[in-house]
Amino acid sequence: MKLTQAQFKQDFLAEIKTLYATDLSDTSKFGQFLALGHLVRRYDGPNWTHTSDQYREQDRKQVYYFSIEFLPGRLLKSNLLNLGLLDTVRQGLKDLGLDFDEISTAEPDPGLGNGGLGRLAACYMDSMASLGIAGNGNGIRYRYGLFKQVFMDGYQVELPDDWLRNGNVWEIRRENKACLVRFGGNVWMAPQPDGSLKAMYENTDDVWAVPYDTGLVGYRNDVTNTLRLWSAELPPSADKTGFSQARRDRIDEITQVLYPDDSNSAGQALRLRQEYFFSSAGVQSIVRHYGLRHQGVKALAKKVAIHINDTHPTLVIPELMRLLMDEHHCSWEVAWALTTQVMSYTNHTIMQEALETWPIDMFKGLLPRIYQIVVEIDRRYREAQTPIFGEDLVNRTAPLGNGQVRMAFLAVIGSHSVNGVAPLHTQLLKEDVLRDLYQVYPERFNNKTNGIATRRWQQLANEPLSSLIDSKIGPTWRRQPNQLKTLTAYQSDAKFLKQLTAVKTTNKAALGAYIKSELGITVRTDAIFDVQIKRLHAYKRQLLHVFEIIREYLAIKDEPKTVTPPRVHIFGAKAAPSYHYAKSIIKLINALADLVNHDPAIGDRLKVAFIPNYGVSLGELIIPAADVSEQISTASKEASGTSNMKLMANGAVSLATLDGANIDIIEAAGEVNEYSFGLTAKAVYGYYERGDYHAADFYKSNPELKRVLDTLIDGTIPGISTEGQEIYDSLLRYNDEFFVLADYESYVQQQKQISHDFQNQKLWQQKALANIAASGVFSADLAVARYSDDIWQVPHTKLLN
Ligand SMILES: *Cc1c(COP(=O)(O)O)cnc(C)c1O
Repeated sequence: MKLTQAQFKQDFLAEIKTLYATDLSDTSKFGQFLALGHLVRRYDGPNWTHTSDQYREQDRKQVYYFSIEFLPGRLLKSNLLNLGLLDTVRQGLKDLGLDFDEISTAEPDPGLGNGGLGRLAACYMDSMASLGIAGNGNGIRYRYGLFKQVFMDGYQVELPDDWLRNGNVWEIRRENKACLVRFGGNVWMAPQPDGSLKAMYENTDDVWAVPYDTGLVGYRNDVTNTLRLWSAELPPSADKTGFSQARRDRIDEITQVLYPDDSNSAGQALRLRQEYFFSSAGVQSIVRHYGLRHQGVKALAKKVAIHINDTHPTLVIPELMRLLMDEHHCSWEVAWALTTQVMSYTNHTIMQEALETWPIDMFKGLLPRIYQIVVEIDRRYREAQTPIFGEDLVNRTAPLGNGQVRMAFLAVIGSHSVNGVAPLHTQLLKEDVLRDLYQVYPERFNNKTNGIATRRWQQLANEPLSSLIDSKIGPTWRRQPNQLKTLTAYQSDAKFLKQLTAVKTTNKAALGAYIKSELGITVRTDAIFDVQIKRLHAYKRQLLHVFEIIREYLAIKDEPKTVTPPRVHIFGAKAAPSYHYAKSIIKLINALADLVNHDPAIGDRLKVAFIPNYGVSLGELIIPAADVSEQISTASKEASGTSNMKLMANGAVSLATLDGANIDIIEAAGEVNEYSFGLTAKAVYGYYERGDYHAADFYKSNPELKRVLDTLIDGTIPGISTEGQEIYDSLLRYNDEFFVLADYESYVQQQKQISHDFQNQKLWQQKALANIAASGVFSADLAVARYSDDIWQVPHTKLLN
């Protein structure tokens, strides 16, 4: 939009006056943020209204992206960028003596997700708006986000994330769009005079679902889409009938907290209630929106696509069946045909223990009508497929089995598309986790490699780099990230490579200042910034990284004179509160950091900075400063990864196993520009099949590795007698489930190579440049365009390849 600086300043000062009845000098940073937020809402208002008017007039097919997590990050800066107002506002505030960046960090970062899954949903919403797709997010408005992490004595302590305490300037509560979600009670089918059956409910536990809408601004295209998050409340009828405090509490808890565990299903009824709550409310609002504009349900699949981000929203399938049959009087056959045409599903894991299931008894009690429908889906699936595939395969794949409702199987059976998130992952789905269902529905399986919103992760997070890129190739890459590949022309431009180093140094200084203020550690900006940021999980193998730090520490102690480039090892990671082993590793890293950072013999050659409370905003600070991107999961375990893409786009080279999208990153940037190592997925599966992995063999045959492992239990690292023993035992007594010891040697080899190569800054920056130039293929815009073409069948803005 068009806005002069003068107009902006006038608007801003007026907003301050209106909101606070005082002048600028009397307002806090947060108050200034809030005023800016209100202004941006006002500037964007016409776009938001116009977008939904347009969609309605054109009767556009709508995409509904259901996800139990969204991690959008702060919105002020990205909304301003997308509206084309960032420079105007920054300059205008400067004139008023204010620092925009300082004000923008006063915005709370909503932690409505655990990690990659929620962040992917947010990146895709951003891309849908930017591609002019009629995209809608559907999720839960958690009263408390993911816990705030602090360290006490090196241990993780979880504090509540009260992100709504000061309100949320971006949301609109839409009471007129609220709807009822039913739990429990009895349900029976009553025959009607016309011969049909009507679902009758009694003694249900009714919950009122109230939507809060947030505008999602497209990149300079006047499009604003909607993210709809649902909040659970007492139904208005409770005012008349009365209610007990117990009932109110039971309702409140549904949207009170996000489950802080992103690996295993929580296994609790509350989680199931959360899942049905937002699935039901979302599908009800879709059907109502569709019904206002269309006669009958025939065109539903032409006008609606519902996407299931992992299995948590799978109940949208039986819920849509319920609405079509019970409220719109469709036959089973018609309802089922429509449902499967509408639904598509993304799988995010091949870890068996992370596949969601619910005990039938619990499911039936909480969702009696939905259970009846799942029983019928199960019965028809068995009836149709047993003659073709035999009883064994059908027993293994039916939605109901072993006393459980199997959500992933229900999702595949009820959708027309199931996709993995990187080529290796999709292949493993077909060969391993969902092998049997792949026999039944081969045509449904496809791959959609993950992507990232380059606007947030490059343009906003790394303005120095973005300006430098502009100066070389102009700004078209900002809309078409694939244009970044034209940067390869500058591979031998010595001046440009030096400028890249300078940009990196600037970003390192900014991160260094934060590390200093948070942790009291001084880091050198000429050090290698070696970064591992992701959830703490055994399969992600932060432990392998720890062993390299111990090795470097011992090497310096042994041979103080050896010259190697200084290093800063940077970690960001939250552990699920119930994940004991992960928390032990946090303690280990912090204890090691204490030892290394305070050893005078080490000085500034080696530092370890475990930055607490990793999230989107911290990622935006850390990623631009990284030289090395640690992507070292056990091959086959990381479905895709997306921090690998963010780091690549900011010129970090990957130190990576051949896992998930690392494989595609290595292919895109060229093998010589990354550091790959370790067992392949095939080798890992080989060990499983033969059962001949013996971790202790590596310990016995490699004296250096033995020495490193022994520091866990010999007192070298103070303060970890319990944790050290536990971790040591997990590797040697319990045979190292994630093959850390098998990959140790090749990992260390590449770390040494990195230390060697980093000293040749020209060579190093050439690798960095190759990564930036190749990163465009991982733009979420391209990924979402592929979803649109192949799965959702909706039009979008054209993109260059
Ligand atoms: C991108 C992102 C992730 C995903 O990181 P992976 O290394 O791919 O697991 C997790 N958390 C946040 C806050 C992110 O921005």
